[in-house]
Amino acid sequence: MAQRKVLVTGASGRVAEMLRAGLDGVHIRAVDRGDLPADAGHETAVGDLANRPFAEEVVDGVDVVVHLAANPAPYASWDDLRAPNVEALVNIVDAANRAGVRRVVLASSVHAMGGYVRPGVVVEPDWPVRPCCRYGATKAFSEAYGRMTALTTDMSVICLRLGACLPRPVDSGSAPGWLAPEDLQQLVRRCLEADVRTGTYFGVSANTRTAFDIANARAELGYEPRHDSEAYAADLPEGDGGLCRITPLET
Ligand SMILES: [Zn+2]
Repeated sequence: MAQRKVLVTGASGRVAEMLRAGLDGVHIRAVDRGDLPADAGHETAVGDLANRPFAEEVVDGVDVVVHLAANPAPYASWDDLRAPNVEALVNIVDAANRAGVRRVVLASSVHAMGGYVRPGVVVEPDWPVRPCCRYGATKAFSEAYGRMTALTTDMSVICLRLGACLPRPVDSGSAPGWLAPEDLQQLVRRCLEADVRTGTYFGVSANTRTAFDIANARAELGYEPRHDSEAYAADLPEGDGGLCRITPLET
């Protein structure tokens, strides 16, 4: 069987950097707007996915797209989010569908559900989206666009609401949504193979004090995270972990 070819967008970014080591044996086409690291992939392309012809060019011949490219700043303005988080998203999903790509894995974010986050709550993946910021709202849109595409075409779309993907949690607020790099790698690898048509899953580690329910990722994707932020809990400074400060809702 020919080697599986996977397009990774946002390949210069932090998540892609942590993912790379887990994709041994996969033929990677790496894409980003800026310079790509030397080990980014077997093939590379530099360009802007908000430019539709570029999106159509880079999906040609790939089996799966792992779409990581986005502006990840929670408090970014609409002007700074529209092209990278919405237009580029639509272009890559539409281009992948037209090119006969089997599956798109979309990197969403826990910010799409950040409006639920407060102490003692474990957010379930099928609750209605409740973003905590404009960035989270663009991710909620990306999930909707992905799901619509999966329901109306032959292409599979999986949405991963990634938590704080860092080598270790940086403060108390990041611990409930921490995603260890090794768990990220396993989760994405499972998404390349999983027998699902579409679904939305939280991408966090097996954190004892988690804020996000990963039962469906375990059951449907076979995700078995091996890391727990509790191992670092005693040494973590107080902090909000990068999640947005919003007024907690009573309901
Ligand atoms: Zn947010």
